[in-house]
Amino acid sequence: ERLTALAAVSGPGATSDGHKVPLLANVGSPADVQAAVEAGAEGVGLFRTEFLFLEDGAAAPSVERQAKVYRQVLEAFPQGRVVVRVLDAGADKPLGFLTPADEPNPALGVRGLRALLDHPEVLRDQLSALARAAAGLPVYLEVMAPMVADRADAAAFAEVCRAVGLRAKCGVMVEIPSAALRARSVLQEVEFLSLGTNDLAQYTFAADRQVGAVSRLQDPWQPALLDLVALAAEAARAEGKGCGVCGEAAADPVLACVLTGLGVTSLSMGASAIPYVREALARHTLAQCERAASAARAADGAGQARSAAHAVLSGE
Ligand code: PEP
Ligand code: MG
Repeated sequence: ERLTALAAVSGPGATSDGHKVPLLANVGSPADVQAAVEAGAEGVGLFRTEFLFLEDGAAAPSVERQAKVYRQVLEAFPQGRVVVRVLDAGADKPLGFLTPADEPNPALGVRGLRALLDHPEVLRDQLSALARAAAGLPVYLEVMAPMVADRADAAAFAEVCRAVGLRAKCGVMVEIPSAALRARSVLQEVEFLSLGTNDLAQYTFAADRQVGAVSRLQDPWQPALLDLVALAAEAARAEGKGCGVCGEAAADPVLACVLTGLGVTSLSMGASAIPYVREALARHTLAQCERAASAARAADGAGQARSAAHAVLSGE
């Protein structure tokens, strides 16, 4: 019965009353692209580019090499949307030539955009490679920076995008609570937000995402995390801009409904989750999603939030 229900729903992501929520895929290498296309992804919501830089840990790949790989991904979604994240090195993804090896707290150190701003040539080359890869393709390219803390970070990233003449929408990931709290100010510099709920949970709860002993605090159902998502989504709505989610949270079908109810405008996830999320959205109205979101935010912990949202969505 479940399989029949899954097969019965196809096409773009939308609630039962037609509120569109594009369903995009997280892609970690060109090898993931095929699965994304097969799952009916409407594009790529998070193209993690680290794999390319880890091939040769001693230096960044050439602009030519990067452009060739980016083009493979862009070509897979001819009319779709592809959101490329610039290199997110450091912490759980150390890179010898870019990130310091001797930090006491790598997750709180020079990682993500911070490392790129310390090595602007690496960022410029990556953006130039993207410009070259997108040349002549009808694809709708967006680029975003990881680990953005405030408006100054967003401005610095937008400035480099302009300087290389990249014709793409420029956005930032919201992974640090300060960026969610001041999302409206950050949005003065860029055109969209994408919530990285894995890191956002890590930094909200001071719980290392690599330490199993604190995994309880990595649960994306935590109401404090939902509050931050709501703040970012409300700010984006007020500015008339998009606010997606590309962390693991988007892959949970019930949570995907809650995120939609919080005002998130697109969901990006591992390709295998797309059919389940599509089917869950198609079974509920936007108003039900909004009620589930309010019930989850009113709860006192992740477990309660989950049951409260389930109860609303199953009509109890
Ligand atoms: C996140 O932090 O939620 C995210 C999507 O990025 P990554 O998991 O690659 O850090
Ligand atoms: Mg992250």
